[in-house]
Amino acid sequence: MDRYRSFANSGVGRFVVGKLGLPSPYPLRRHSPTRPPLDGPVLLGGCGRLVGSLRAVLGAAGLDVAPEPARAEEPARAEERYGALVFDATGIDSVEGLRGLHAFFQPVIRSLGPCGRVVVLGTPPELTGSTDERIAQRALEGFTRSVGKELRRGGTAQLVHVAPGAEDAVESTLRFLLSGRSAYVSGQVVRVGPADVEAPRDWDRPLDGKVALVTGASRGIGAAIAEVLGRDGAHVVCLDVPAQGEELSRVANRVGGSALQLDVTAADAPARIVEHLTGRHGGVDVVVHNAGITRDRTLARMDADRWDAVVAVNLASQQRVNEALLAEGSGGGALRPNGRIVGVSSIAGIAGNVGQTNYATTKAGVIGMVDALSERLAGRATVNAVAPGFIETAMTAAVPLLIREAGRRMNSMSQGGLPVDVAETIAWFAHPASSGVNGNVVRVCGQSLLGA
Ligand code: NAD
Repeated sequence: MDRYRSFANSGVGRFVVGKLGLPSPYPLRRHSPTRPPLDGPVLLGGCGRLVGSLRAVLGAAGLDVAPEPARAEEPARAEERYGALVFDATGIDSVEGLRGLHAFFQPVIRSLGPCGRVVVLGTPPELTGSTDERIAQRALEGFTRSVGKELRRGGTAQLVHVAPGAEDAVESTLRFLLSGRSAYVSGQVVRVGPADVEAPRDWDRPLDGKVALVTGASRGIGAAIAEVLGRDGAHVVCLDVPAQGEELSRVANRVGGSALQLDVTAADAPARIVEHLTGRHGGVDVVVHNAGITRDRTLARMDADRWDAVVAVNLASQQRVNEALLAEGSGGGALRPNGRIVGVSSIAGIAGNVGQTNYATTKAGVIGMVDALSERLAGRATVNAVAPGFIETAMTAAVPLLIREAGRRMNSMSQGGLPVDVAETIAWFAHPASSGVNGNVVRVCGQSLLGA
């Protein structure tokens, strides 16, 4: 529980925190079915390939588009509070053109309301047409990440690389980024490629009729993933070790899914999973490899058992289960067309961490799995991963106090994330309209300083 955040948002706490220059964690605005996605209109700027589709997408998502300020150099009226600032930077093809970022954002950045959103849309640098354009497009990354670090009061900033031809594949991504679903995601670069997008009949229940498997679902992040995928309409097969059977049944009942008691490291686990999914459900649409363990020791003190246990749960099992799900049986593999595989990595797998050579090896391996499979399965399924930072769960509650406090505060939000923040990011990957979102590793870390 984050007592410091409650204190920092009390009357006296705000005063003390301000005077001493302490971290000031703002209460994040998360998704609620009864509130609009944002607390204010979207101000659109820039000029490129996406300008046309952006208005249509924002309208369909129920977001108001604000009229442009009369003149760019005229500061927006003080009472104007934007929910988001969205800039189409795909038209920037030279260093001089970068001036457009300053011209649009500088006068209005102070008018972004609490938990506001900044989204810059660009072209993947390697897909640009000239040296000048490639340099300018790469430059957008430094801009966006710095804006994320400057925003206060729960604001986030992202760069979306939209490949040429993917202009109509961005809706699910914009709906995610321009809402409370992405409350703890900031400073990320997301890629959207061309794809045949399957728009759901009902955007509130995009996974209606789909089957999802979530490993490690009895508690923590896994339970939240099961809940969010269930909310989105999926039948969720909740998997965990037999020792967690009671908690697992409770989660499965709560989400209207079913429970599968199984140790993912067992020799027959892949075959049993495939048998269960094909036998009872005719296949699976979404597979989330969330089960994970830590066995921390510095390398000099790490015995082979700790090493082997972590590799077995966090990486080897995922690979074996994937191969079993993809193996061609009668009528194709168990993973159905337009399927989704989601790995759970960690910022430790990106930055490395003291005492976690085993864990970070497996979490970097998950990123390798995303790279390899996303290419292999392109057009047939997507493979992405989340890399959580400090998330408030039993795993992080077990971390010693001082290290725990450092992990909580060393990010742009000055607070830990919640399991639901990871779950919402996975639900965006799982969305049927996210076919163009493939090969991404998205950090859910409040823009942690670790590995940034
Ligand atoms: P947790 O320990 O609360 O939950 C993990 C679940 O996995 C448990 O229910 C456990 O029983 C299950 N599990 C473990 N071994 C298993 C096996 N062999 N077969 C089946 N199930 C098994 O952890 P959490 O904090 O909810 O973490 C979930 C995932 O997120 C993990 O992969 C973890 O590495 C990752 N992660 C967590 C954080 C964080 O801050 N909590 C940060 C980065 C990454």
